[in-house]
Amino acid sequence: MRDADVIIVGGGLAGSLVAAMLGNAEVDTVLVDPHAVYPDDFRCEKLDRVQVEILRKTGLADAILQPTTPNGETWVARFGRVVDKLPGDQHGIFYAPLVNTVRRQIPLDVTQIFAKATVLATSADRQRVTLSNGDEISARLIVLANGLNVGLRDKLGLRREMLSECHSISIGFDVKPVGRREFAFSALTHYSERIGDRAAFLTLFPIGPIMRANLFVYREAHDPWLRQFSAVPRETLLALMPGLGKLTGRFEIASAIQIRPVDLYATRDYRRDGIVLVGDAFSTSCPAAGTGARKALTDVERLCNVYVPRWLAAPGMNADKIAGFYDDPVKQACDEFSLEKAYKLRSFSIDPSLRWRAQRWAKFLAQYAVGTLRRRKGRPVSGAARQQDVPAATRAET
Ligand SMILES: Cc1cc2nc3c(=O)[nH]c(=O)nc-3n(C[C@H](O)[C@H](O)[C@H](O)COP(=O)(O)OP(=O)(O)OC[C@H]3O[C@@H](n4cnc5c(N)ncnc54)[C@H](O)[C@@H]3O)c2cc1C
Repeated sequence: MRDADVIIVGGGLAGSLVAAMLGNAEVDTVLVDPHAVYPDDFRCEKLDRVQVEILRKTGLADAILQPTTPNGETWVARFGRVVDKLPGDQHGIFYAPLVNTVRRQIPLDVTQIFAKATVLATSADRQRVTLSNGDEISARLIVLANGLNVGLRDKLGLRREMLSECHSISIGFDVKPVGRREFAFSALTHYSERIGDRAAFLTLFPIGPIMRANLFVYREAHDPWLRQFSAVPRETLLALMPGLGKLTGRFEIASAIQIRPVDLYATRDYRRDGIVLVGDAFSTSCPAAGTGARKALTDVERLCNVYVPRWLAAPGMNADKIAGFYDDPVKQACDEFSLEKAYKLRSFSIDPSLRWRAQRWAKFLAQYAVGTLRRRKGRPVSGAARQQDVPAATRAET
């Protein structure tokens, strides 16, 4: 049986980054994931400024950002009218290349096994993981980073609490200008025009030579509108945002349409001996709020920079010891922020009550004022001013 200090179950964004950081810290680590190369997957497709700041604390930011496409100035628009132009601070990259880039940072002395973990046996001292290929691995700590796959959590008796079923639906596709080489903007965020449309916003941003589109809506998973979007995407998009064409000019949809409903859930009863949960395995986030990668990166940064070195320096691996990670104020603040933003953005986008109508108008007026100020001064408004003044919905995707 292979013995290690840490075994990571799941090599997505969170698990691969844990493997790279622990490997660099010379911790005896094993990473288990069924795929030698992370396959195409519609997930997070850009990293924002805050996510990049957290990435910098991992020591791997330069290598991971290298294949990304920085966006330029981002136009923010509503009703086909540009209300502000934000300085670009996002990095576009499809999820599979992102994860595979992180995996390339894993040092060779980390053992990578391409199999599924099927059984986890935990204790206050040593843990045992059984794999689909029949192998068994023993370690002092299991890092569970297996994302949305609930099978192992169910077997361990970790409860999944559904907080908001089909909280939002993400729609991804490529767009291309017709009759011109480029769009007039480098990146564009266009807000939904009517509450009844049950949409948050559309964001267009570059990934290499592609102009990628992410549209976030709040509908039932079987809503016929989604079938209509798949069948005639351009027409359905322009009916949803009639002002959009003024900014994009003529365009065509240049890829298949990917549609992904997302539930908000949280794992409960997670304070256990020998095992720590990170990323989506701990709790999910709303893609419209754009906080999933921030949560995963925060978990990994705190775990690898602070807790794993402390835990390995002393004997035992009981639940009390591991609790320090779950009680970490930075992690807790990040998780709370993510959940609050998911609910607020939904209300901001579709709640017809007077309170939210007022908030929408107040925030868009504030944004218009900031945009006007920025244009008059001819220079970017500082980051701090932007965070205060820009509507939550805009910050949600930045
Ligand atoms: C459509 C969509 C759009 C999104 N957009 C954004 C966005 O714009 N901004 C943002 O910040 N976040 C976004 N997110 C959220 C973000 O992508 C996730 O929060 C983040 O990728 C989670 O990473 P993870 O490593 O926890 O999980 P994953 O990347 O899912 O990794 C889980 C890994 O576990 C492996 N695994 C599963 N079961 C086993 C097993 N039994 N044994 C071994 N390995 C196993 C899988 O193969 C996989 O490699 C989006 C999510 C979705 C669905």
